[in-house]
Amino acid sequence: MTIRTRFAPSPTGFVHVGAIRTALFSWLLAKKDKGVFILRIEDTDKVREVEGSIQQIEDSLRWLGIDWQEGIDVGGPSEPYLQSHRLDIYKEWANKLIASGRAYADPYTKEQLESFRNQAKANKSPFMYRDYRPESPPVWDGSQPLRFKSDPKPYRWTDAVMGELSTGYEAIDDFVLVKSDGYPTYNFCHIIDDKIMEVTHVLRSQEFIASTPKFLNLYEALQIERPILATLPYVMSIDGQKKLGKRDGAKDILEYKKEGYLPEAMVNFLATLGWNDGTEQEIFSVAELVEKFSLQRVQKSPARFDEKRLLWLNGQWIRRLSINDLSTRANDFWSESAKNSSEQLRQQILALVQDRLKTLSDLPTLTSYFFDEPTPDWQMVENDKQLGKLQPAEIVELLKQSLIALSESGFSAEDLQQTLNSLLDSTSQKPAVLFSIIRVSVSWSPFSPALNETLAVLGQNTVKARLNLAIETGSQKV
Ligand code: GLU
Repeated sequence: MTIRTRFAPSPTGFVHVGAIRTALFSWLLAKKDKGVFILRIEDTDKVREVEGSIQQIEDSLRWLGIDWQEGIDVGGPSEPYLQSHRLDIYKEWANKLIASGRAYADPYTKEQLESFRNQAKANKSPFMYRDYRPESPPVWDGSQPLRFKSDPKPYRWTDAVMGELSTGYEAIDDFVLVKSDGYPTYNFCHIIDDKIMEVTHVLRSQEFIASTPKFLNLYEALQIERPILATLPYVMSIDGQKKLGKRDGAKDILEYKKEGYLPEAMVNFLATLGWNDGTEQEIFSVAELVEKFSLQRVQKSPARFDEKRLLWLNGQWIRRLSINDLSTRANDFWSESAKNSSEQLRQQILALVQDRLKTLSDLPTLTSYFFDEPTPDWQMVENDKQLGKLQPAEIVELLKQSLIALSESGFSAEDLQQTLNSLLDSTSQKPAVLFSIIRVSVSWSPFSPALNETLAVLGQNTVKARLNLAIETGSQKV
């Protein structure tokens, strides 16, 4: 038996970290076994549906390289994979349940249900629909909700992540199978679909654990052998206090793409959100994850969403890219002037800043002075720890000497290193002073890569012009 898993999102808005982690774990499990990963869209709650979500779900998965072998778009033996196109199938199964006496039409009005609830409250007992089952329910004509006639009993079952679980009979009630709008509920149709699609492992978030006894009861009534169930613990906010919500960074996964995160980093991050391979290893490629992933090593306790870790991982993954690859991925992130420059120049600059990049969207700020003339800001000199100690006149003098030396230098990175070293000797200055003032004057930026390499890429004319401008600016302060 090969493993068949599925991701079954409802199209109710963007896909966030928690959901996509479920998809990733399901995908890894199937991939490891050379099995099948299915993408099924659970669109039976028309009220909560958000337009554009399906596209967004697909885009998110594709960005991360999570491919599906069966499902929407690609098709497969259990077509269609959109639940709203499978209503006949659910109806058939609903009728089977009616025929076996395990489902009935709910005849009550809202007001009647409300009064049952109030009665239960007055008796200080939890409201159970099954206590009010109608004696002779009407024939189901589709206008009433169809309810499951449950068979309450205690359950013990094994969850592939959580281990042995148990509940009492009170966890089971007569829930709705088909709503009065004709659409089946999630509780009902996912069971049918998992059976038809031959899903072997159902991975889903902890929020479904309370419903599992209901599902177990329904599996029995439908005489469906249940798949292996695996509950993934919640993803919590960084302080571990609450389930990750929109305010704590549970944002659209595609936002990370826009912010310059690499899919490799995101996959690495998601995979290690509640899973490890038993070692201290932190960086995992997709291939390693496929090889090493197992449900046994998914932790039972909630994982914490640490965006700083994601940022760190992204930097690590950026460093691992070849310059060609980095250059292709950086295409959308460059400033307009950078886009108008040559690919060769962009690649030279990428090689200089690669180790510094945390996200691709850092590129414009980190490299602007290579493409556009920076505006001198003397405060940068005054605020610098070392330079701030010098008088403007001393700085101007250093700049003049640097200008002379650099005007005579060959402009390869090696030549420049020699020139800079001789300047250190001739001016008797520390690198922290001399190199800083040159660096600031040519970049007016808080950061630049190795000075000789920066100068080499800028070129002699630009360096001379910028030093001249810095001398002029500094002279006004004297
Ligand atoms: N449609 C459900 C959701 O989006 C899926 C739960 C499941 O994986 O069974 O929450």
